[in-house]
Amino acid sequence: MADYDYDLFVIGGGSGGVRAGRVTASLGKKVGVAEEYRFGGTCVIRGCVPKKLMVYASHFSEAFDAAAGFGWEVGDPRFDWSKLIANKDREIARLEGLYRKGLSNVEADILDTRAVLSGPNSVYLQAENRTVTAEKIIVATGGAPNRLSNLPGSEHCITSDEVFQLTELPDRIVINGGGYIALEFACIFAGLGSKVTVVYRGEEILRGFDDDLRENLHVEMAAKGIEILCQTEITSVGEADDGTRSVKLNNGNELVADQVMLAVGRDPTTKSLGLDVAGVETDERGFIKVDEYSKTNVNSIWALGDVTNRVALTPVAIHEAMCFIETEYRNNPTKPDHKFIATAVFTQPEIGTVGFSEENAARQYTKLNVFRAHFRPLKNTLSGSGEKMLMKIVCDAESDKVLGVHILGPDAGEMAQTLGIAIKMGAKKADFDRTMAVHPTAAEELVTMYHPDYQIVDGVRQS
Ligand code: NDP
Repeated sequence: MADYDYDLFVIGGGSGGVRAGRVTASLGKKVGVAEEYRFGGTCVIRGCVPKKLMVYASHFSEAFDAAAGFGWEVGDPRFDWSKLIANKDREIARLEGLYRKGLSNVEADILDTRAVLSGPNSVYLQAENRTVTAEKIIVATGGAPNRLSNLPGSEHCITSDEVFQLTELPDRIVINGGGYIALEFACIFAGLGSKVTVVYRGEEILRGFDDDLRENLHVEMAAKGIEILCQTEITSVGEADDGTRSVKLNNGNELVADQVMLAVGRDPTTKSLGLDVAGVETDERGFIKVDEYSKTNVNSIWALGDVTNRVALTPVAIHEAMCFIETEYRNNPTKPDHKFIATAVFTQPEIGTVGFSEENAARQYTKLNVFRAHFRPLKNTLSGSGEKMLMKIVCDAESDKVLGVHILGPDAGEMAQTLGIAIKMGAKKADFDRTMAVHPTAAEELVTMYHPDYQIVDGVRQS
């Protein structure tokens, strides 16, 4: 190490970068972490965490409605957007402080500057106009929203980068996209009282998820008054003097809104990062190419998290960072394991899912048993809500192995986390069957579906 300023230099202070830097420094290594915006990255500053706080905020309108059935008289509730944003900002600032403290506690250097590669072992720090050297470098710069620069009027649109700082709650919002971000924000805004229209180019929202979840989420969101226009594209966005946006659609219709949000995927943050100078290869979309150990084609440079084209989720970036440390500093070569990642979509109702969708499983297995429960949860008997819950287990009929579990309904994300352990361990349906139910819960349905609803043989559903 004597020849270098740092054992490890990390570009990007998000979940993956900070974890790699903090744990490496705790092993006694000399570490520097550079961040040009705010420590905490997308997840903490303008992603998962503030989003979840807004999800909680948006749940209250339904809770107030439901309260009457349980004997409560709530009066006329009012919502204050600026108070929510201020409280959220305070919490995010606290978390950012914890990220910085975590690094300083282990004596890692915190560098508030844009950093770019200037060679295989060197990094140029723009704000300080100096170059540092490092034996190993990690690029963990994450991604940024696709702003659809080819869409006429895209400058009148916001993305998930701006949505957390709007000065007021829009009365009407059009959201473009049918993925995680589009649908989570559609439900947030609807819950807070906005009129929401989702414009999605595909046949059904949430491509890649189990079809049952997609269709039932669509139905439940529509029942809450969210308009979902599938097979529709935005062709232009205009802005009037009073700030009203007019959104032209490819079917000739026009929507009027106070905000238009683009949630059409994210691009890797690799532009002008010096990757070419250091000789680091990227793919055609700009993602950094890595091997199974997150190493780039340059021997001294690794990349992890959303800047690589693997799975764009915070826990995955953290896992990739820990595997890097095991491999490079603990003499225990460890490949990140991307199989059976449980995930949640914080829509309303929520999705929790792990493993293969029915459609995906049917492409890979000859015979499937599909267990399915679609029911009105106990709470909704008094709340007056007609919302139903969906639970589905997809099994390989031959081995009895559970291939996928899909839930739509309250606390689905919490259930997916614990189910993830069972599925990762290779649970069979018989293991679910011999597990005692927790009563009365919605989750008990997962261990009381004894008979398959239907089978899929050679990709064809049997009646
Ligand atoms: P997604 O990939 O989930 O969805 C992108 C959506 O935009 C898709 O519906 C896609 O359509 C559509 N789209 C893409 N390009 C265009 C285009 N040119 N014109 C119109 N529509 C387009 O990305 P998100 O931006 O929602 O989220 C990014 C990632 O962040 C997610 O994949 C996820 O990994 C992560 N995330 C996770 C969350 C969680 O864990 N709860 C929450 C939020 C984000 P099509 O399906 O046709 O391709």
